[in-house]
Amino acid sequence: MPELPEVETSRRGILPYLKGQTIGQIIIRQPKLRWLIDDAILQAQGQVIVDVKRRAKYLLLELQSIEGKNNISQTSASTIHWIVIHLGMSGSLRILLTPEPAQKHDHVDLILANGVTLRYTDPRRFGAWLCASSLNDLSQLTHLGPEPLSDDFSADYLFRQAKNRKVPIKSWIMDSNIVVGVGNIYASESLFMAKIHPIRPANSLTLAECERLVVAIKQVLAKSIEQGGTTLKDFLQSDGKPGYFAQQLQVYGRAGEACFICQAKIQSLKIGQRNTFFCEKCQG
Ligand SMILES: [Zn+2]
Repeated sequence: MPELPEVETSRRGILPYLKGQTIGQIIIRQPKLRWLIDDAILQAQGQVIVDVKRRAKYLLLELQSIEGKNNISQTSASTIHWIVIHLGMSGSLRILLTPEPAQKHDHVDLILANGVTLRYTDPRRFGAWLCASSLNDLSQLTHLGPEPLSDDFSADYLFRQAKNRKVPIKSWIMDSNIVVGVGNIYASESLFMAKIHPIRPANSLTLAECERLVVAIKQVLAKSIEQGGTTLKDFLQSDGKPGYFAQQLQVYGRAGEACFICQAKIQSLKIGQRNTFFCEKCQG
């Protein structure tokens, strides 16, 4: 499943091809993704993509009507200004510089006026293509916690939010209402780096431990995004997937192997039905 670093890599990969370009045509071969694609998305045809942003694991294509093209007195209030894409479990995007025949799972093409195509492929169809006049209209985005790499995600914030929360810290930091983008692998790795046992209740963390955890989450995600930068060329290759980065994992998937710090055996257990890896000694 694409995690936040992969989505950010996708954003950086497609941005240079889309920014400032006019959308010529949108072809929807299969509208039944996680949510049915709204026909209103076709209002994007003729609009310019002014930027490609990201919120959590959603890619946000910001649109602008070409000035003077639309009669302002006519339906301007209902015109969409955003296309929002989620890659779901198996979605991927790639850039085609010249047309290529669509394959079985190529569900959406966004064809630019200059002939370049953004092609969306999703075998399992858990992804999404949404559209809206305002991002506030999208319930998928309204309850999300802060971005992990922003200043809003701080030790003070985490400490305040953790009050009275007795759930294991591992599950809690994976809750997108608290902070977005901390997937299962990153949660185990961050807790190891911060030397915090994954099963501890969230409200047992001291402010100093919250500080270590916030720093660890930012470092783990930033490193993953940085490594993704080397895979940007993949957007012009056949599968378009940035793939999992060759990040050196400290604990994830290493049950029974020696801890890189203390040589104790890495343990695993399920927390909230998710595999969790940790070092009992370093995180005791
Ligand atoms: Zn250890």
